[in-house]
Amino acid sequence: MLEVEEWKYERERMVEEQIVARGVKNKLVIEAMQKVPRHLFVDKTYYPQAYNDYPLPIGNDQTISQPYMVAAMTEELKLTGKEKVLEVGTGSGYQTAILALLSHKVYTVERIANLTMKARKTLDSLKFRNINFAVRDGCMGWSDYAPYDAIVVTAGAPDVPTALIQQLADNGRMVIPVGSEYTQVLNRVEKRRGRVHRIELFGCTFVPLVGKGGWNN
Ligand code: SAH
Repeated sequence: MLEVEEWKYERERMVEEQIVARGVKNKLVIEAMQKVPRHLFVDKTYYPQAYNDYPLPIGNDQTISQPYMVAAMTEELKLTGKEKVLEVGTGSGYQTAILALLSHKVYTVERIANLTMKARKTLDSLKFRNINFAVRDGCMGWSDYAPYDAIVVTAGAPDVPTALIQQLADNGRMVIPVGSEYTQVLNRVEKRRGRVHRIELFGCTFVPLVGKGGWNN
């Protein structure tokens, strides 16, 4: 990834006050959050707010997730650099960048073509080379490249879509917000010897996952 000096101080402060202070411990996640220039994933008018402790609009009625949420979700995946990762909900591409720094290859899907286009432009300009994009309903996963060692869903689902469980590798992990259209609980789903284990982590609020197995369009 291309190094970006601008807003470095704000980025350091974000990591200290929002990420480390709230208990994120994984060094690799912390380093990645320190590196990725979050401001480039939002509109210029939001640059001064890009390192603040809340989500921001990215167009098409969608949002870039709160920095802490990105860090906490990524930490749950326990990435070592070797994984094949599926991300459902590319959005701004910010979490995609974090995942790309920490894994071997990222497959990211988004239902709104305009967002994919913008995210791809940003990630290309930062010289990421291990990201594959698709415009499609992520409730169905992306079977062509399955199974995935890790899956992250960045929109709230009524339940864990079956296709995603099927496309999770053995010993793989998925994080997904599950609940109502307005509030959810982050779930961690693991597959061990073909069996699915699911635990609830903490409350969260995401935009709805829209599609088959998600909420209706
Ligand atoms: N990680 C992103 C989050 C964006 S918000 C970021 O921080 O920028 C969630 C995204 O999920 C939105 O862009 C929304 O369009 C997308 N989404 C919702 N339902 C989807 C589906 N079924 N398939 C793919 N993407 C979906």
